[in-house]
Amino acid sequence: MLSADLGPAEAFTGLPRRASRSSEEGGNALLDRLDGESFAALYPDLTPVTLTRGQRLTQSEMTWFPLSARIAVSWTLTDGPVIDTFLVGSEGAFSAPASTDASARVTVRRAGEAYRVCSRRLAELRRILPDLAVTMDAEAARQLYEAQRTAACIAAHTLEARMATWLLRCCGERPGTMLPITQEELAEVLGAQRTSVNVGAQALKIQGAIAYLRGRIRITDPERLEARSCACYRTQRA
Ligand SMILES: [Zn+2]
Repeated sequence: MLSADLGPAEAFTGLPRRASRSSEEGGNALLDRLDGESFAALYPDLTPVTLTRGQRLTQSEMTWFPLSARIAVSWTLTDGPVIDTFLVGSEGAFSAPASTDASARVTVRRAGEAYRVCSRRLAELRRILPDLAVTMDAEAARQLYEAQRTAACIAAHTLEARMATWLLRCCGERPGTMLPITQEELAEVLGAQRTSVNVGAQALKIQGAIAYLRGRIRITDPERLEARSCACYRTQRA
């Protein structure tokens, strides 16, 4: 099922949108960056899948290339909160490690479409396709960097600013985008108290950046939301 909560979506044809050359138009930027030889070799093994919000991706043997979906890696600490350490969307790809700490989770934060490929097959192709290997290595390095930045962000930036950044990264910048998420869930992904999230969400609402109903947040003004986001969002876009 398509992510009806996100408004009109393109029909998912199951064909890589190679021609679009833009993740904003429904493709995957990492796939778009591959050279023709690498893409042609990988293409037969790409399986289109529809991911649902809250779905746990437990298949460590798979690599995911999100299109409209957003996948989060989060950690559950023994004494409490769940914290998202990074989100992967149409800009990248994610492979779950073969053996993960039991406190690590890979969860679909935004419903949508993705491609899936067997990690073993991807490894085979990497050995014979230098461009594919370089591209995937660069993505792994980017994610390590993102996780480190998240640690710094949590320590240094306000909850309201982190919330604005997280919402923009999860929803994109299209006005009117609706994300079904409760403030309790938002508190979890941000590693914050629910009361603090309520205060931050209220501030963003008063500024006209978001609106929320029970269990749903709508991005009403992406520019205002960006103005309230932390520097991490602008750096990630650069
Ligand atoms: Zn930040």
